Amino acid sequence: MWGVYFDTQPFFVGTTAILGRMSRRAYYGPLAPLRARDLRPVALPGKRWIRVRNRMAGIGAEELSLVHLDVDPRVSPVAAPRPRRLYLGREVVGEVVEVGPGTQFLRVGDRVAYQNDQSCATREIEPPCRHCAAGNYALCENRYLPGPQAIGGGWSEEMVLHERQVFLIPDGLTDEQAALVEPTAVALRAAMRRLPQPGETSMVIGAGTIGLLTTQAVRALGPEGTNITVLARYPFQVEMAARMGGDTVLYDEDLAVAVARLTGGQRFHSRFGADLMIGGFDTVYDTVGTSSTLNQALRWTRAGGTVVLVGNHLATLRVDMTPVWHQEIAIVGSRAHGAETPPPSRAALVGRDRAGRESTFQLAARLLREHRLTPERLITHRFPAHEVRRALAVARKRGEHRAIKVMLDMRDPSGLDQPVAEVLTEEVQA
Ligand SMILES: [Zn+2]
Repeated sequence: MWGVYFDTQPFFVGTTAILGRMSRRAYYGPLAPLRARDLRPVALPGKRWIRVRNRMAGIGAEELSLVHLDVDPRVSPVAAPRPRRLYLGREVVGEVVEVGPGTQFLRVGDRVAYQNDQSCATREIEPPCRHCAAGNYALCENRYLPGPQAIGGGWSEEMVLHERQVFLIPDGLTDEQAALVEPTAVALRAAMRRLPQPGETSMVIGAGTIGLLTTQAVRALGPEGTNITVLARYPFQVEMAARMGGDTVLYDEDLAVAVARLTGGQRFHSRFGADLMIGGFDTVYDTVGTSSTLNQALRWTRAGGTVVLVGNHLATLRVDMTPVWHQEIAIVGSRAHGAETPPPSRAALVGRDRAGRESTFQLAARLLREHRLTPERLITHRFPAHEVRRALAVARKRGEHRAIKVMLDMRDPSGLDQPVAEVLTEEVQA
């Protein structure tokens, strides 16, 4: 069984961090924490565990920053207990090929997507913690309890995991759509954290996969006529942002001037570079999460408005927080997915629990089937599994390659062990 993982041993991380400053090849070299290896076959570790043979997987921003060591080791999530191997690939669809004798929800042949890490459900804890009881497994208070961990991720030939870690894909979705239910759910949760009210304006910072899908999610679930402005970084993102529902796409202009013009905001400057806007957007979704974008988000939100922080960049930021009190701006975080209560007027009531909730994945799959969300339009590149390093290099240099979503076809991982030097030569020639 082939698998791609990140080796968390400090020696490899530290050495590659130093070498990476000299050449980006170091991130794919023999000392890099990124490993593509044959893994020892394992038996199912529990009665409700299953084996999934992967078909299609996507490359996400989180994996890109991990592989390229764009992570500040001082940020708090880094303190969480972690296994020595972090299997990569969260956006994935595969087929169940083996089930444990106590499996309740799945059968061999079912098509499933990876949904969540360990939680009360996967640890079979009754009663579940308050977050799991509300469907928000990503916030589970028991998620770091010791116990068996999943083996293999989306960029592996197979995954061995608890049946409650996956989502059963409904009929009518292609494999590519099914693999992209995960980022779609991330965007839906971001939109649901603060949906615009009638007549409100919103801005989405970032036009990568999550930014574009957040734009589409706000369009799909927000009130009719919601005005959405998208801030793009590359020219090739501009057209896509418009196709995904952006009314206005800002790119390469004096952004503060453009925001003041769009929102009727008043700007004040000081000669030391301070910039204040009175007025602005009702809601800003920051899908990038750097110091620069969060500063923009806080400055361009009207008094009493909300900034939704979607981009989980693992870095300590340098941010002017004064708008939070000076303009009474709320910052709301959004983490992965869980359960949502979509507005009843724009969604049918099927598939909801007694509290009117629906899992974010279920909502994503439903909107995908209704063609109201179209993540598959964002696919720009497809690579066979064994070209994972090349795929990563393309996804990282997305401006140069005009890449939005890069997919890996996991059905033929043969050749994954080809010498690193060969892969790098190809990468340089590409
Ligand atoms: Zn829990």
